[in-house]
Amino acid sequence: MPKNSLARKIVHHFFGLLDRAFVLRAIRMVFGYRGAIVLMYHDIPGKEFEQQLEFLKRNFDIIPVEELVKGLEVRGSMQGKCVLTFDDGYKSFHSDIFPVIKKHSVPVTVFLIAGAIGKKFNEKNLMNWTEILELQETGLVSFGSHSLSHPHLNKLSRAQLDRELSESKKALEKKLGKKIEFFAAPYGEYSANHLNAFSKAGYRAALTVVEGDNIAGGNLLELKRITVEKLHKPTHIYFTTSGLNRFFQKPGLLKKI
Ligand SMILES: [Zn+2]
Repeated sequence: MPKNSLARKIVHHFFGLLDRAFVLRAIRMVFGYRGAIVLMYHDIPGKEFEQQLEFLKRNFDIIPVEELVKGLEVRGSMQGKCVLTFDDGYKSFHSDIFPVIKKHSVPVTVFLIAGAIGKKFNEKNLMNWTEILELQETGLVSFGSHSLSHPHLNKLSRAQLDRELSESKKALEKKLGKKIEFFAAPYGEYSANHLNAFSKAGYRAALTVVEGDNIAGGNLLELKRITVEKLHKPTHIYFTTSGLNRFFQKPGLLKKI
């Protein structure tokens, strides 16, 4: 075993002990974020996701996006709350992630590209309506709009933007029989002049990829999200989700552990 790999194993083992002893939770409660966090995933193997989820469950209350928005609206305390979101709606969510979601019984929201259901995006298969409806039936998965065609919002005219926002909402509502209240901007791109279009199209809240936590009083049309990928080990996730990475001068340092 290479030397650095052994050192890494020791770090992770020690970290795991602190986590199980709730030491990490206590440090986060005192020094970490004061608001709720929203995690953004795309496509991650089920095994990696479960390892991350076990850590998240020990450290956060996992709540649906509706509860987050309601909590922010009524100015409740959001510390220690965590929302799980998946963008694009890949078939792998249905086959690999949902079994983990079901096993751990946690809520999750998937943002769908309404004009590409059952098609491909990024050369990967997207879920079809049968799969989406099957997930909705379980009560654990809710859906939001991720636009009609996944465009760069900054490149659209106002009329095109309005169409992406309202047509995707209508198409999803028609098929799902539920009100679609949340929008996640493709590529996380948005600008201040889009916010008015989000609310005009009828969205109660919109999610970005600006990293940080969400506290009452912030704009519900630009909720912050933390990007998580499969390579993120619990040590790395702990620092990014707790906000403790703000105290490190060299964020690259965390990647080494
Ligand atoms: Zn996307």
